[in-house]
Amino acid sequence: LFIVFEGGDGVGKSTQVRFLAEHLTHAGHRLVVTHEPGDTPIGLKIRQVVLDPATGDVDSRAEALLIAADKAQHVFEVIRPALAAGQIVISDRYVDSMVAYQGAGRELGAEEIRGLAEWATGGLVPDLTVILDVEPDRAVNRIREKDRVEGAGDAFHERVRKEFLDLADAAPERYLVLYARDTREANAAAIAARVDALLA
Ligand code: C5P
Repeated sequence: LFIVFEGGDGVGKSTQVRFLAEHLTHAGHRLVVTHEPGDTPIGLKIRQVVLDPATGDVDSRAEALLIAADKAQHVFEVIRPALAAGQIVISDRYVDSMVAYQGAGRELGAEEIRGLAEWATGGLVPDLTVILDVEPDRAVNRIREKDRVEGAGDAFHERVRKEFLDLADAAPERYLVLYARDTREANAAAIAARVDALLA
């Protein structure tokens, strides 16, 4: 089972990832918790290049290719081996982040970026994607030190948010969309119930 958490910056994804991991571990499942970009040695270098404000101007296409390279290595080194070993994989961000940030945010085109991401991942699709949705300005305000992407303008973050919601609308059976300002306990319970149903 492959579960992904998506959403804008500062929406509380990592908290919900932790709650779900605790829930599944408690139920006796073996799982791997991972994230993008940067959860492999190669990916960590890519993450530093992409996110460090000191990197300066990064061409949007160069950024997309770097993010795609991180994703390819992540699938090869972490996600596929874990799934093959029968483990549940929970990833904080995956293909939809690329479609939302590079496709919509950087305006490279959602369809083209989806094609690139699918090529990078060999077409591995999550069983469930949880989207934590919130108005971007409120989310970004909670972040003290902004990385290169978080510092992008409001319009950028609005495009990112809308793309996540559009992706969920296009395939509702594979998505759970939650409002990130609802209590984290209520959202955690909704996520656990949906995942339990998939495991039943
Ligand atoms: O989720 P996390 O905080 O680790 O993401 C790191 C940064 O990378 C965030 O600013 C996020 O917006 C950005 N990002 C991106 N393109 C992606 C995935 C993440 O710009 N495809």
